[in-house]
Amino acid sequence: MYTAFLIKYAEIAIKGKNRYIFEDALVRNIRYQLKTVDGKFTVRKENGRIYVETEGEYDYDETVAALQRVFGIVGICPVLLVEDEGFEALCKTVIEHIDEAYPDKNFTFKVNARRARKNYPMTSMEINAAVGEKILEAFPETSVDVHHPQVMVNIEIRPQINIYSTEIPGPGGMPLGTAGKAMLLLSGGIDSPVAGYMISKRGVTIEATYFHAPPYTSERAKQKVIDLAKKVAAYTGPIKLNIVNFTDIQLYIYEKCPHEELTIIMRRYMMKIAEHFAKESKCLGLITGESIGQVASQTMQSLAATNDACTMPVYRPLIAMDKQDIVTIAEKIDTYETSILPYEDCCTIFVAKHPVTKPNVEYIRKSETKLAEKIDELMEAAISTTEVLMVEAE
Ligand code: ATP
Ligand code: MG
Repeated sequence: MYTAFLIKYAEIAIKGKNRYIFEDALVRNIRYQLKTVDGKFTVRKENGRIYVETEGEYDYDETVAALQRVFGIVGICPVLLVEDEGFEALCKTVIEHIDEAYPDKNFTFKVNARRARKNYPMTSMEINAAVGEKILEAFPETSVDVHHPQVMVNIEIRPQINIYSTEIPGPGGMPLGTAGKAMLLLSGGIDSPVAGYMISKRGVTIEATYFHAPPYTSERAKQKVIDLAKKVAAYTGPIKLNIVNFTDIQLYIYEKCPHEELTIIMRRYMMKIAEHFAKESKCLGLITGESIGQVASQTMQSLAATNDACTMPVYRPLIAMDKQDIVTIAEKIDTYETSILPYEDCCTIFVAKHPVTKPNVEYIRKSETKLAEKIDELMEAAISTTEVLMVEAE
């Protein structure tokens, strides 16, 4: 029934001369997401508006779902775009629209007219009153509520007349590609995919690095991380994924360093290697799924020790979130079911019974001096044997 969607986006962010960058990215990303949807779509900008117009048959639900994955969109309004053929014709279209869209007419409404084109022969107030009256006449079960209407009938007089009464929430955020690039440390857990999603939602393009330890971690554990990257890529676009063989480094740390410091030292080398790849592809920061106090390696002291291993900013969007709130997002973006599959990750194999919970950075650095002989060589080997995949959404 709808031939177009009116796309609403946050206005504050787009004031000034950067506005067109924001809008052009949004248009590009909408086109990208709609590529896989059944139907023919035209995306166009018009006076601070973005419209998605459809031609012929299209899948409405899929279209809405695709638009709900485009960061920067605040609202998606299925809209009727009609030529101005006089007030009577307008009322007729509004009535038909209400009849089709609301089978149950027991609702309260308000007409909200706006004129972007001031030469229309009636004022907004006059349109509100006259259209409201026509609706009441056509559907006596309805009633007007100007304060908390259940249905807001929007009528905007522009070059074409826009009629819409629903606004489906979009994901919010900023258009992808407007804020630089960052490197996500992606594990098979619940947290890191959510962290990547959240940073990407601010317009950041992401790449990812995963550390595995074959044969201690299985092929299935690796596939799980690839599957998670695919899920995240549904929002972020294709993700370049570095898969680092971390086994020799882990074994070497295990051999040389105190076992209760193992996780922290391992984590520090992960940060260093991720930072190497981040610099190589001009990323401006690293992203992790850490959250204060969640586990021993995420106390404030542990975070400080991990942070000390690299110089790039580390973005930790989950830092103050409770697990349940993280799970809620994981469910929303459809990573949760994959994340809870029970395959070992490389940290669980080598965990100590009693890991330090308040590591002192100086001690950790001192322990790491025991690795001096071979660690550079092992890091180089890990970097040069890294497998690189381009992961796309399914
Ligand atoms: P997640 O659910 O994201 O795995 P977690 O609660 O299991 O997090 P940790 O295992 O302590 O927490 O890991 C903390 C962060 O370190 C992860 O969110 C991730 O960013 C990074 N990380 C941990 N293990 C790996 C790995 N094998 N490969 C890449 N990054 C990792
Ligand atoms: Mg983990």
